[in-house]
Amino acid sequence: MGETTVPPTAGLPLTWSDLLPWGAGDFSQQLSAWLGVPQVQLECSGTSALMVALRALRTLKPGRSEVIAPAYTCPLVALAIAQCGLHLRLCDLRADALDMDSARLQQLCSDKTLAVLPTHLCGRVADVDAALQCARAVGAYVIEDAAQALGARSNGSTVGMQGDVGFFSLAVGKGLSTFEGGVLLARDAEIRAALQAQGQRTKFSWWWELRRSVELLGYAALYRPSGLGVAYGKPLAASLARGDWVEAAGDDFDDMIPQHRLGRWRQTVGARALQRLAAFQQQTADQARNRIAQLKACGFEVVEDAVPHAQGVWPVLLLRLPSPQSRDAMLQAHWGDGSGLSLPFVHVLPDYGRYDHVLAAARQDDVTQARDWAQRLLAISNSPWLDDARFARLLGDLQQVVA
Ligand SMILES: *Cc1c(COP(=O)(O)O)cnc(C)c1O
Repeated sequence: MGETTVPPTAGLPLTWSDLLPWGAGDFSQQLSAWLGVPQVQLECSGTSALMVALRALRTLKPGRSEVIAPAYTCPLVALAIAQCGLHLRLCDLRADALDMDSARLQQLCSDKTLAVLPTHLCGRVADVDAALQCARAVGAYVIEDAAQALGARSNGSTVGMQGDVGFFSLAVGKGLSTFEGGVLLARDAEIRAALQAQGQRTKFSWWWELRRSVELLGYAALYRPSGLGVAYGKPLAASLARGDWVEAAGDDFDDMIPQHRLGRWRQTVGARALQRLAAFQQQTADQARNRIAQLKACGFEVVEDAVPHAQGVWPVLLLRLPSPQSRDAMLQAHWGDGSGLSLPFVHVLPDYGRYDHVLAAARQDDVTQARDWAQRLLAISNSPWLDDARFARLLGDLQQVVA
């Protein structure tokens, strides 16, 4: 087509000067200041951060073995819970918001529950208060899965501080990236100490650090309009040609979650890029506001924060289309052409099949509403590289598809 390939989400591009190995200061301190929290703890991925949190909370409540997550979430969450020797339960979603149904959550909570995971999916702020009420009634913890929501705020402070623990992802595609990385935060000093003690068990690995450093260099080189055709467009087209939507969406994860330290040089790169994150998020928020208004004016349902007084972040614009058929038709027409359409996740967790071995009893949990969401959601990239003309064409095609 000759047009640039738009990345599926609005990631912050790196500049060559981000890669200088000196003089950027301490990343974790800068990130704490940026978020307005006393302290953050760096891990090698969001998933690894979740595992550190689960193990730390288990030392505080050793008798508890169940973790409740939304039925529509990243499969890595299920893998992390299994790797910690814990049991997943799946909570169905509300019909009117992309968030856990609190009546269902209440039924799932018991004295076996270690933690509940309200999830700020695609930057949309979830109702953490509702999760806290259910969790507190049975003495369980709340871990905010804010993997896709670095920079999102609620009630005047960053997401992740309302529950007992919060975590962000620094993976490619989630905003600020050290290729892979994770961030833990906690309000309570006792829980922070438990997270630290658990985190200190993780060892530095030269092999992983070398690999991730090379990958980060590749990201710096190719995450630009001229590079994404090769780095993202080609493999995507190959997956779609095979009809493999799970691979196309990047939902094909291996069982084993590596745990190691986030190395110094990658922290320096993160610290430099962080200087530009607020301005970038302002730009993408402005673009989102403008495009959401256009989508709504055409009668489309745009997914918003689940609570009032929240300011989510906008890696993508999320639409709920009227039917699975219209959603699939739009993907068939445009997923492979680099216009920036994608799916947050292809399925609810029990519908992948490939994750059945970690779901166990959770395969029997009712996921009716979540499945409906999974079949009708469509993500439009909010990358600035999706220009107004191309967005206007997508909007025109969307109107045709639902007509
Ligand atoms: C990506 C993601 C994770 C895992 O984060 P990684 O840094 O990729 O390990 C967890 N939860 C959600 C909702 C995610 O989108």
